[in-house]
Amino acid sequence: MAMNSLREFELLKKIGFIRTSGSEEELKAANILLEEISSIGITGHLENFKVPTSKIKKASLKVIEPYEKEYEITPYNCSVSTPIGGITTDFVYIEDGLGANLVDIKGKLVLINKGPDPKLYKKLLAAGIAGYITMCGTAMDEEEKTDITIARMREKNTKYGKVPALFMRMKDCFHMVRNKASKVKVELITEDIELTSHNVVVTLEGSKYPDEIISFGAHYDSVPFSTGVYDNGAGSVIIMEMLRHFKENPPIRTLKFVWYGSEEVGLLGSQAYLKAHEEELKKHLLMINVDVAGSILGKESALVTAEQSLVDYIDHMAKIKGFPLKVEQNIYSSDSTAFADAGIPSVTFCRFAPTGGAFIHTRNDVIDFLSAEALEKTTLITKEFSELIVNSIVFPIEKKIPDNMRKELDKYFNKESKKEN
Ligand SMILES: [Zn+2]
Repeated sequence: MAMNSLREFELLKKIGFIRTSGSEEELKAANILLEEISSIGITGHLENFKVPTSKIKKASLKVIEPYEKEYEITPYNCSVSTPIGGITTDFVYIEDGLGANLVDIKGKLVLINKGPDPKLYKKLLAAGIAGYITMCGTAMDEEEKTDITIARMREKNTKYGKVPALFMRMKDCFHMVRNKASKVKVELITEDIELTSHNVVVTLEGSKYPDEIISFGAHYDSVPFSTGVYDNGAGSVIIMEMLRHFKENPPIRTLKFVWYGSEEVGLLGSQAYLKAHEEELKKHLLMINVDVAGSILGKESALVTAEQSLVDYIDHMAKIKGFPLKVEQNIYSSDSTAFADAGIPSVTFCRFAPTGGAFIHTRNDVIDFLSAEALEKTTLITKEFSELIVNSIVFPIEKKIPDNMRKELDKYFNKESKKEN
């Protein structure tokens, strides 16, 4: 059966609602995917896993010197609370947190240009900060048209300890710095809770090599405020189309199709899958991920976390078939990276919009910037590659993560070498 991008686009509209990690809506989307799977004549199932998050009970920030003004804030999920009644402390802007920015910050609430990476986070904690503020949006944002980011504190940071942490609009941060805010009162009261998230899983048994597995992956959750059609309802419907294709054209190797939940809060769905299927991983040869697609404006990309020969192969394939595709050896911040970290070569296909051409992680990730025609581009590339690889006479990809990619993965997951102190 030919690829049908109109059918893909219809399914994309069906799951185009906000579906955050562990929410009822995420489960609703999982069930829509399951229904679609059974309409193809296949049975899928859900695999659940726990996701730590938190409930906000109180969140306020007020500048008290040299002027008085309240600002809107959002705590990080899984931030720690301040004492009830809040704390009054000095406020300081530490830019990117370079050496000289970190002098005399003990006990202060610090404002950083962007969320701290583990290295900076560790330094901030060692310096004894009272808490930190991360900026989101731009200095020009209008309040009615934008939302304050909600994100979860990541384990690669919190393993060093926790302090109250929150997001603010960049335009408000700009206002505070410009007006020389020096003393603030901040109160964050949150409660740690656990939600249940789900992966949707389907197996198509291989006719000749059932013990050799290639998996297709796409995350189907969204961030708050976002209908997540570009990121990543699009990838979700593309791998559904792959499932249809391989149902019609039975593969010689076993295929797994997994729609991952809770990717947006730190690849939790793929990590749960890897943990729950440890034995099975020995049989996995390759993971094919699709993340962000369908934007009317854009360019096709493939990020290959595998040996260089696979990069060259995909590049040649694209040229021979006339696909405009940028291929590079790299890691991609999605579930493919969790697989690569587990030693399974991975490829992510995506369609990147030029800056401002389509949007992720905001309320502007909406269907208006996407089309069936654009969705078809990534679908056809994914299909061309998959069909050849899945049914190769001799499987050509070595199950090995090259050293340069291993380095990138270790950096991404912040696996420090023992020498670091
Ligand atoms: Zn994504």
